[in-house]
Amino acid sequence: MKTTLNSPLSSLSRISPDHEAGLKKLNISNILELLHHFPIRYADMREISGTSTLVAGQPFTVYGVMEKVSVRRSFKGHMPMTEARVADNTGTIRCVWFNQAYIGKMYPDGTKVKISGVVHSDARGFLLSNPNIERAEGIIPESQESLFAPNADTNFLTPVYRETKGVSSLYLYTLIKKAIQLNVLDDIVDPIPPHVLKKLHLPELREALLYIHFPKNEALTIAARKRFAFEEIFSLQLKQYQEKVEAKHSLAYPIKVDKIGIKKFIDSFPFKPTTAQMDAINSILKDLSRKEPMGRLLEGDVGSGKTFVAATVTYAVLQNSAEKNGRPLQIAYMAPTEILAKQHFESFIKYFEGTGIEIGLLTGSGCGKFPSKSDTSTPTAVSRAQLLSWLADGRVSIVIGTHALIQKSVAFQNLALIIIDEQHRFGMKQRKSLAQKKDTVRKELPHLLSMTATPIPRTLALTIFGDLDLTVIDSMPLERKKIITEIVPARGRTETYEKIRKELQAGRQVYVICPRIDEQDEEERQKRILKSVKEEAQRLADVIFPEFIVDILHSKMKKEEKEEVMQDFLDKKSDILVATSVIEVGINVPNATVIIIEHADRFGLAQLHQLRGRVGRREYQSYCYLFTESEGEITQKRLKALVNAKNGFELAEQDMLARGIGALMDGKQWGISDLAMEAIKNPKLVEIARDEARELLDNDPTLEKYPELAEIIRKRTQVHME
Ligand code: ADP
Ligand code: MG
Repeated sequence: MKTTLNSPLSSLSRISPDHEAGLKKLNISNILELLHHFPIRYADMREISGTSTLVAGQPFTVYGVMEKVSVRRSFKGHMPMTEARVADNTGTIRCVWFNQAYIGKMYPDGTKVKISGVVHSDARGFLLSNPNIERAEGIIPESQESLFAPNADTNFLTPVYRETKGVSSLYLYTLIKKAIQLNVLDDIVDPIPPHVLKKLHLPELREALLYIHFPKNEALTIAARKRFAFEEIFSLQLKQYQEKVEAKHSLAYPIKVDKIGIKKFIDSFPFKPTTAQMDAINSILKDLSRKEPMGRLLEGDVGSGKTFVAATVTYAVLQNSAEKNGRPLQIAYMAPTEILAKQHFESFIKYFEGTGIEIGLLTGSGCGKFPSKSDTSTPTAVSRAQLLSWLADGRVSIVIGTHALIQKSVAFQNLALIIIDEQHRFGMKQRKSLAQKKDTVRKELPHLLSMTATPIPRTLALTIFGDLDLTVIDSMPLERKKIITEIVPARGRTETYEKIRKELQAGRQVYVICPRIDEQDEEERQKRILKSVKEEAQRLADVIFPEFIVDILHSKMKKEEKEEVMQDFLDKKSDILVATSVIEVGINVPNATVIIIEHADRFGLAQLHQLRGRVGRREYQSYCYLFTESEGEITQKRLKALVNAKNGFELAEQDMLARGIGALMDGKQWGISDLAMEAIKNPKLVEIARDEARELLDNDPTLEKYPELAEIIRKRTQVHME
């Protein structure tokens, strides 16, 4: 039987259980997926200068001869391993291949090989662990002098793949090579229409796969990578435009706007809304009044008052309830964490007090409702089943919750609006499933308001929010005091701690952000590279602030543990919270007035800005101290930008230009690969992807002519949101 792209890997080679487990971890189950496992980098033969100039941590490639090859079992486990020395004319390098006894047999003493890997060092000196190895007969120039002067025509780039336990880069490379030799690319179909590729001068799929795995030269690998990045961005654009068109063609409840009622609601707040807030409310109300469902993204800096906007439009929608034949309208408000959901719940209770509107809270750890039966101003705890039945029969009009809201068991009577806070992706599927009551299929699609404080550069916004219209809140409530931001070098520490002590003594709380979690090993400690959360917490508790309570929060903790620590901090059971950047997401502890950021130079500007937004949430003067040991000019200049910045968007753009979007934010949270994140920097590419996607779908809405493309988009939808 002919081996094809859909053939299992076992058609290439015998796959041991270890290999199979490793491959599964890398999400590789057939040849197509294998070929889409792209190299993370290329080891470049031209980088080499021989075994005499090894540097730990650096990639290294050498042409040499195998010596002292031995196959044995590792002393601790029973893992078979091959050990050898590879000699060139300047010396030798020790190489070890764990779990790969066959290397010893395939490359006995005297074999000429090309080896590449990352240099490590241990007590016995330098070594390469599981390096790539290839036979190099005929490549190694015979004369010793020319050994390290490869001529430019020869191929010196070796792909390096992401590895996992049991699956080495070399193993992957061997499998890929085999697949290509079996001509699996013969009948491969390019999903991207040829005219689109032409416009961007991108290689076709077949060529691109060859260039990316068997690089002839750098230019070709770059072209290949760009092609795959484009494919991803293009398919995203297609999917989003499809959703946009689908939404346009669906019905929604048009909301009648009662201006006088809304004004009364707004007047009940203790503050006057900013112009930006009012503009946002007006554009949302305009959308809501239409027959087709709204899809709008509200982008506003931390503290710009998005909750107020959400509450006001919620109120506006609920004023229409009476008109829908006694089936009151409902609103679902989804937050990324339980604490935030609870905070929104409490805010909404305040805002809606006296209106008679019933509000529910739905999280994994409990449910609540307001007003309670006894009609006090505190909510009562209710069972999940009870709350679900009230949502299904329409009694509860507003439900605030976490991801728990999108579980199948949650059904609404008449969901009119979904509000999503800091949740970057919410697709048509979720929207539909939320809208549909279990037994009836409803025609109307709910309106969608997505809110974020993450400053998103335009090209990225076009890519991930192509289906949404954008509103920006570009100013902050006036009475907010500016957060005093200072760059603190090592020598300024003591003085700064004393200032902070005064804040703590006045009853305020402090965040301390560190870039890493674990204890460091001795070498790192000596280099004083990074502060770790645990270590720093210990130091602060023992030495600096022994009179205060220190707690820690980091990303390796369980979700419930994190929630508990945050709740304690909110309840002022702890004074100082040492954390990794996990606290970035919109948490609100108004009593916290100081944030220290250790190794501030290691964070992106936009991220620093987000972190800084954790303080300054009440009338108290707040402080952000950027601790840094790097006094270099570039660091200082970068951090100064933060001191002077007016808003996060400015910083996001700066970050993007300086470090790429990948450094700015994690693509994974949007389901975008690093490869595509890098390409998003290129506005032309993104715009062509967008324009072409639109044109294609306008002419062929179901992509009948491009079934492969349709398939890619279908797969995208599945991974959309866990
Ligand atoms: P975010 O946009 O980060 O979600 P919030 O909605 O949490 O911001 O608002 C932050 C704080 O600002 C809240 O305590 C809120 O009551 C307050 N606030 C909102 N709008 C205004 C305003 N126009 N004037 C004064 N304070 C406001
Ligand atoms: Mg918020």
